[in-house]
Amino acid sequence: MTTYTFDQLLKSVTVGEGEGAAVRDPATDEILGHAPQSTEDDLNAAVEAARAAQKTWATLSHDERSEYLNKAADAIEANTDALAELLSREQGKPITNGPNALFEVGACSAWMRSSASFPIEPEVVLDDESGYAELHYVPIGVVGAIGPWNWPMMISIWQIAPALRMGNTVVLKPSEYTPLSVLALGRVMNDVLPEGVLQVLAGGGDLGKAMTAHDGIDKITFTGSTETGKAIMRSAASDMKRLTLELGGNDAGIVLDDVDPKEIAEGLFWGAFINTGQTCAALKRLYVPESIYDDVCDALAEVAGAMPMGRGIEEQNVLGPLQNRAQYDVVARLVEAARSSGARILIGGNPDDRAPGNFYPVTLVADIDNDNPLVAEEQFGPVLPIVKYTDLDQAIEWANGLDVGLGSSVWSSSRERALKVAHRLEAGTTWINQHGTLDPRVPFGGIKESGEGLEFGVEGLKQMALPKIISG
Ligand code: NAD
Repeated sequence: MTTYTFDQLLKSVTVGEGEGAAVRDPATDEILGHAPQSTEDDLNAAVEAARAAQKTWATLSHDERSEYLNKAADAIEANTDALAELLSREQGKPITNGPNALFEVGACSAWMRSSASFPIEPEVVLDDESGYAELHYVPIGVVGAIGPWNWPMMISIWQIAPALRMGNTVVLKPSEYTPLSVLALGRVMNDVLPEGVLQVLAGGGDLGKAMTAHDGIDKITFTGSTETGKAIMRSAASDMKRLTLELGGNDAGIVLDDVDPKEIAEGLFWGAFINTGQTCAALKRLYVPESIYDDVCDALAEVAGAMPMGRGIEEQNVLGPLQNRAQYDVVARLVEAARSSGARILIGGNPDDRAPGNFYPVTLVADIDNDNPLVAEEQFGPVLPIVKYTDLDQAIEWANGLDVGLGSSVWSSSRERALKVAHRLEAGTTWINQHGTLDPRVPFGGIKESGEGLEFGVEGLKQMALPKIISG
């Protein structure tokens, strides 16, 4: 197994200036390297190689494929430092201090090992005097995976690991904003995987679109925006490709009136600001009862004011820049919409536009109406609107009032009260006294326009297979 230095790894996934697309460090705006740009011919060649490799890969037993997954996890672990540095420089996230770059690389090997470990046996669904039937899970073929830029490595592994485990081969296209991290991850894994089983192609939306229309690809697993998810669903209809869609969210958190604001402030903060708010299932709108509204706002502002933001590779930082200028502009527009409506900015809200990089300060917005764009739209950045409520039923109605339903949370000192509210919230996951915590054993997915299908656990493996009944 090869161990790379940062420079070796970067060199191995970049091309010369003029041959590829410039990738910028979001903290400095400097060019980190140039990513190769795959063409449709490259895609055709990759799909052909993936189809050829899949024939042999599918003949391996689950144990044999799991062994490869574990070897790939070993390779990731052996290259943790170089991978984390590249991720930090390209995505912007702090290298250490909490759920950041080292955590993300660690999650990659953990999810690989976990996907390798689940038993998936044929299920006997009928066995009596009237007959016998078994449900098996067989490979789909070639899986096309398309990913976003917020957790580029970890989300790629969420797609790759179950697909490979179930006997498929994978052609993966990372986001054009973070291709190098994922190319590097693929490079490291391909030192131990059989040829053709995993191929990473860098390119933009057009390459993604070509994948969704490609007749050699049998399933698309996609993580990204709801808008792109809808386009993929339409495109995949031409030959009924199987789909897993993990899309955008606008997660609500409802605080009940029995909490100690100081006790929950840190949990609320990290629920909202993990990865500088660039997380699908982050807390994106918070509903707080009038009786403790000021205390919750004060406690959150105190926690938020103590969090250092800066270059990811400087170890003291716990928050980084937004990954790209387009997302910075979304955040700035939404904060301005809140400010001009008369909402109260508790902290932040004044970026230094002359500083290099895409830094937007941690921002808390109070006294904001539920229909303000900052509440109704996904901000995907370091801003949290805090909406006051007097009637819990009204807060639940507001929480359920959007077209998306990825995560949600309830905060209470009474589990019984929290559960009652949790059952009424329309979301794929409802957390109690936490927000956004994921576990490879626990299925995760959205409802409404937040997605289709589940990832993780045995349910996630089943999504990467075709159900097949043997009857009689
Ligand atoms: P995006 O939809 O802009 O891009 C995602 C990927 O789709 C990129 O690789 C892009 O090149 C590709 N793409 C663009 N147009 C395409 C097309 N027509 N056909 C096929 N592929 C195409 O999303 P983003 O801005 O990278 O990611 C942010 C969004 O992703 C947020 O809304 C966030 O909530 C969501 N997200 C969801 C999850 C989840 O698990 N539910 C996880 C992370 C991010």
